[in-house]
Amino acid sequence: MTSARLLAIVLAFGITGSASASTYTVKRGDTLSAVAARFKIPLKALVAANKIADPDRVREGQKLDVPDRKAAMVAVAKPIVAVEPAGGAGPPSHEVKPGETLSGIARRYGTTVAELQAINGLSNADAVRDGKKLKLPASAAAPPVVTPLCPVKGAGKFDFSNSFGAPRHGGRRHAGNDIFAKRGTPVVASVAGTLRVVRGSLTGLGYEIDGDDGVRYYGAHMDSLRAREGRVNQGDVVGTVGTTGNAMGTPPHLHFEVKPGGGASIDPYSLLRSWCR
Ligand SMILES: [Zn+2]
Repeated sequence: MTSARLLAIVLAFGITGSASASTYTVKRGDTLSAVAARFKIPLKALVAANKIADPDRVREGQKLDVPDRKAAMVAVAKPIVAVEPAGGAGPPSHEVKPGETLSGIARRYGTTVAELQAINGLSNADAVRDGKKLKLPASAAAPPVVTPLCPVKGAGKFDFSNSFGAPRHGGRRHAGNDIFAKRGTPVVASVAGTLRVVRGSLTGLGYEIDGDDGVRYYGAHMDSLRAREGRVNQGDVVGTVGTTGNAMGTPPHLHFEVKPGGGASIDPYSLLRSWCR
């Protein structure tokens, strides 16, 4: 693991660090991967949380911070820092994603459009296209690690509870948490990414955002849609809290799910606790 990548994960932990769960004292014969397995967290999350340089060397009696499992899953879903490891691979670079602009990229890395154009030999600021690798100035700061926003504007910790996994009609289980709010309260994009509108008998009017952080965010039961599909920025209003789909007849709420890597939903409760205050 390169130091840049390790740093990325350590930084990622900063955003969910409040969810750190417990400590563990290393016993004779323990290996780091055995400890990780015992707590059902990825080894690299344990390594990152404890800033361990050599995972093969843990000593008896050493105290390890064991990160909260859900936070760990999100944190290692994908390193959030887009700057490539410095070691030998050449200068840092950035791969252009759909909808990104040169000025947006420049802002993100603390540089200017002119400098990016000069380094990359671009004569036209419009010449960036999806998937193009832009060289970044050596001085480019790693982009700030973004803390996701609470998906319901103004919601606090008393507006939801942990009902993840609770039984639902038809043998289903609740795959998220419900954030209650007055009808019409804005629903916002938790992170920047690509928005897709979801409609269905259960969802009603909902959305999915494939976040730049590699995590998919899903919300359901909105009354109205306020955004277009495609690129959204963090904090953009997506729609409003309502009761569509199978929320008909319930108090208005946003059903919200977090899916690292677009896979299965994880219990979002500890994340929401740190995002909605
Ligand atoms: Zn729900």
